[in-house]
Amino acid sequence: MVHPESDAFPRALDAAPEAALAWLGALDDRPIPPRVGVEDVKDALGRALGDDATDPEAVVRSLAAAVEPGLMGMPSARFYGWVIGGTQPAALAADWLVSAWDQNTALRAVTPGVVAAEELAGEWILDLLGLPPESDVGFVTGATVANFTCLAAARDAVLRDVGWDSSIQGLAGGPRVRVIVGEERHDTVDHAIRMLGLGAPVVVPADDQGRIDVAALEAELAIDHGPTIVVLQAGNLHSGAFDDFGAAIDLAHLAGAWVHVDGAFGLWAAASPRTRPLVVDVERADSWATDAHKTLSVPYDCGIAIVADPSAMRAAMGMTASYLSRTASVDHADPHDRVPELSRRARGVPTYAALRAMGRDGVTALVERLTDAATALAAGLSRLPGVEVLGEVVFTQVCVARADDEATDAWADVLRADGVAFASSSRWHGRSVLRFSVSNWGTDAAQVERTLAAAASALGAL
Ligand SMILES: *Cc1c(COP(=O)(O)O)cnc(C)c1O
Repeated sequence: MVHPESDAFPRALDAAPEAALAWLGALDDRPIPPRVGVEDVKDALGRALGDDATDPEAVVRSLAAAVEPGLMGMPSARFYGWVIGGTQPAALAADWLVSAWDQNTALRAVTPGVVAAEELAGEWILDLLGLPPESDVGFVTGATVANFTCLAAARDAVLRDVGWDSSIQGLAGGPRVRVIVGEERHDTVDHAIRMLGLGAPVVVPADDQGRIDVAALEAELAIDHGPTIVVLQAGNLHSGAFDDFGAAIDLAHLAGAWVHVDGAFGLWAAASPRTRPLVVDVERADSWATDAHKTLSVPYDCGIAIVADPSAMRAAMGMTASYLSRTASVDHADPHDRVPELSRRARGVPTYAALRAMGRDGVTALVERLTDAATALAAGLSRLPGVEVLGEVVFTQVCVARADDEATDAWADVLRADGVAFASSSRWHGRSVLRFSVSNWGTDAAQVERTLAAAASALGAL
């Protein structure tokens, strides 16, 4: 063990920015896909642990060198795969500080510095997203766990409403909780409710853009009056579409259901007056899941679980133990009362830094830059011979296809191998599609031009 007062810290830490800046600086020219696979990187790292110590600085330098060929250019402004954000400078630097500070962010009284930054970030997010200011905000690893956290609060609340205390009685033998989802919900919703012991959801159809069919939802709600959760979506993975929140929330609340909204990237539409109409009435739901590591462009991992009724959040996630010096009050729960974990890093701090760096206008500009880029990308792609843009492009997702699946897949393979731009393949409405998710803060008109040139040249090369 190296004594902290030796020069090991400065030497090891100095090696990191050097490698980091080399990586960030190369992103604009480097082919986006990794050049080697997992086994090659293991060879380069050295497979055996060995008995002897290695100097910390040497560990950092050799790690950076061995891993670099296996890195995917995810922070590139021409990376459109899945739904993946980049990293803004202030957020990245704040993330490094979070590691150096090494605060176990569970209790307000113990780590007031980072809790203050997280609480401000939480308040700002509620404001930017137009959500009820009294809501509880928990910083979790991603929207998967945000969905899980919110749906845990939902499950326990709808059971409490019928006199069943799942925290004491468990689930077995209790009333069945029905979870109603749209056909095109994100798979993580199913995953979350499975982990919550709720089984499989009841699926109602979606329309051609992937929005939940509100008439079908109304019919399903009428079938059964037991404990019910309705999961809506802000931002469909393929089309970017938003559910009709006003109509769906009215029906669900009339039936006594809890409404949860999965808005991993789409909730950010609220930050611009141009796209705010897409999320009108979304604030009337009971809980919301979103990500900071997508649209907001903070480093992994940061998701946000928001529950309108703090008592529901704390009933599901709160914990008391004799050794925790509790400081929570009605106004201020401890951080661990709003997330599944006790020990965790101060992952909300990079979100604070990103928001402070941008300011309100910067967040609006970010959302508008992404939607403008998606619109320009769709227009440019639709001008390529034989390329069809599927669905309306309302936000940041652009799905395209050629005449048949083989033609689309061949084009996608050439584009990705070429390495200038990266879009992932998917299936939507029975077709192979190439999906461009515009989620990087650096994607602007110039990057769209380079992407369109790469897409045209991949098509020409077939
Ligand atoms: C990305 C995404 C998720 C899952 O979020 P993670 O951050 O990957 O856990 C859930 N729902 C939607 C709509 C998404 O786009």
